[in-house]
Amino acid sequence: MTVLAGARERRVRTGGVELCVAELGDPEQPTVVLVHGYPDSKEVWSEVAVRLAGHFHVVLYDVRGHGRSTAPRPLRGGFTLEKLTDDFLAVADAVSPDRPVHLVGHDWGSVQAWEFVTVPRTRGRIASFTSMSGPSLDHFGHWLKQRVRRPTPRRVGQFLGQGAKSWYVYLLHTPVLPELAWRGPLGRRWPRILERVEKVPSGAYPTPSLPTDAAHGAWLYRDNVRPRLRMPRPDAYAHAPVQLITPLGDAFLSERLYDDLERWAPHLTRRTLPDRHWIPRTRPDQLTAWIGEFVRATEGGRPVIEATGRWADRFGGQLVLVTGAGSGIGRATALAFARAGARVIAVDRDAEAAARTAGACRRSGARESWAETVDVSDEHAMEKLAQRVAAAYGVVDVLVNNAGIGLAGPFLDTTPDDWRKVLDVNLWGVIHGCRLFGRQMAERGQGGHIVNTASAAAYQPSRALPAYSTSKAAVLMLSECLRAELAGRGIGVTAICPGFVHTNITSTAHFAGVDEVEAKRRRERSARLYGLRNYPPEKVADAILRAVARNEAMVPVTPEARAAHLLARFLPGALRRIARVEIRL
Ligand code: NAD
Repeated sequence: MTVLAGARERRVRTGGVELCVAELGDPEQPTVVLVHGYPDSKEVWSEVAVRLAGHFHVVLYDVRGHGRSTAPRPLRGGFTLEKLTDDFLAVADAVSPDRPVHLVGHDWGSVQAWEFVTVPRTRGRIASFTSMSGPSLDHFGHWLKQRVRRPTPRRVGQFLGQGAKSWYVYLLHTPVLPELAWRGPLGRRWPRILERVEKVPSGAYPTPSLPTDAAHGAWLYRDNVRPRLRMPRPDAYAHAPVQLITPLGDAFLSERLYDDLERWAPHLTRRTLPDRHWIPRTRPDQLTAWIGEFVRATEGGRPVIEATGRWADRFGGQLVLVTGAGSGIGRATALAFARAGARVIAVDRDAEAAARTAGACRRSGARESWAETVDVSDEHAMEKLAQRVAAAYGVVDVLVNNAGIGLAGPFLDTTPDDWRKVLDVNLWGVIHGCRLFGRQMAERGQGGHIVNTASAAAYQPSRALPAYSTSKAAVLMLSECLRAELAGRGIGVTAICPGFVHTNITSTAHFAGVDEVEAKRRRERSARLYGLRNYPPEKVADAILRAVARNEAMVPVTPEARAAHLLARFLPGALRRIARVEIRL
């Protein structure tokens, strides 16, 4: 059975084995060859392959001894990297005799593809290589030697860390036991383990050939790991551009393994993903986007990541929507994501301001940026926005619910209308965003992140800001609850809690219980004070990108917000006394 609907299959003979090769898409387009890992067959790529097939000629093959390819006899010595390179060349010659192919490997598919892209005999046959979760054994060998020969506390820590993650490699070197386990209980339980531990959606993968694939695949380790780690090749330099995609939650491979990779792969593009090992199953959309972009860029002779922002590896190519992007923190956040190479949708109720931010995003690194005019408190308008965005740009990877308004004045002077206005924007705007875009993220099933801009006022009571603080406290609690609910779906939720930030919020804030002349005077006075404090919104934007990259739950920004947070935890009485102080503007 195959889960690759519509694939054309052929057999390729090489070195005494027969490889099962599947092709999708238009053979006139650039050829992308997907190589699977351990214990897998080519079907691990099914979700990525069907997505890529709309644009490329996609080729997958079962590695010898796996899926419907035949196994070498004897098994011992039949899985060396040299023989696997013969197989790759035979497949490449059969499917794309005249043009070099774009190689993509996951896990052991990547380990062997590193060999393909670093040996001289494949020169000119590989146009690019995208590697995920599978280092070159030669690079790994040098990495280990360096840590053994020149141990520093950090290097010893890295060595031990990777050693602990490699427990399964030692087990696979024991004779017969792995084969017995895979053909017995482990083989039966593996699909459930993948589902529970790796969050791989259940379905047609893994295929029934799993026990045989895993038993044969043990020879990949036995034939190659020890000899290569003992004597790594000194000249294992990549002769094609490499894109490295590193899932940050990989249980088997440490991120540190790739620290020195520029030495071996001078044309290196780095990408990171907050996910576990089996990303071809859990993140097919993101991988398709990155592979497609890399292939197109290499075919066109262009550099891939033009963005230079600190988080370019994490957010490059991602779709980010920011509300209240016309000014202040929202505008700075949109621009920071743009500098990291994200595709940015700038949303604001002020159409011109949104358009200005989108234009600035395009000039600062975002390959694409669009403006949308919406009042976030308008339920129907938000529903339409969510539909429009999904249809035109896709599912949002990062949502920043930032639009908000200020309201100051004592509770007894705050009218129901004042309450409605502030809650409609500050709380309902966030609820609509989370509800509509959060659902799309959850239904896609490939993770994402939601940031809600709360405030230090969320945990710092004050007699001057009862309505505003209540709206922000609600946003903070909503974020915490949602974080708990969506954690199992790989969607992170962050509440950002800034203190005083120099933006336009003071000049648009409403003051309850005073006439317009007095309100104007207070607006001007608070604008001056915020100006004197002069904390730039760009710093809040930095905190937002960092919080998403690290999946932080709650981030107080500015020293006063951090101090108030400490007081709220350890000296709440002091904070209550400060809340009583009357501030005269
Ligand atoms: P800002 O006034 O500079 O920017 C807010 C933007 O949101 C404006 O472009 C405005 O047009 C837009 N907006 C307002 N209501 C909207 C609506 N209903 N629909 C769509 N867009 C709307 O203010 P800022 O300081 O950048 O505020 C951003 C967020 O940060 C707000 O949620 C605010 O409460 C929060 N915050 C600000 C500070 C601060 O000191 N500036 C402190 C803590 C929290």
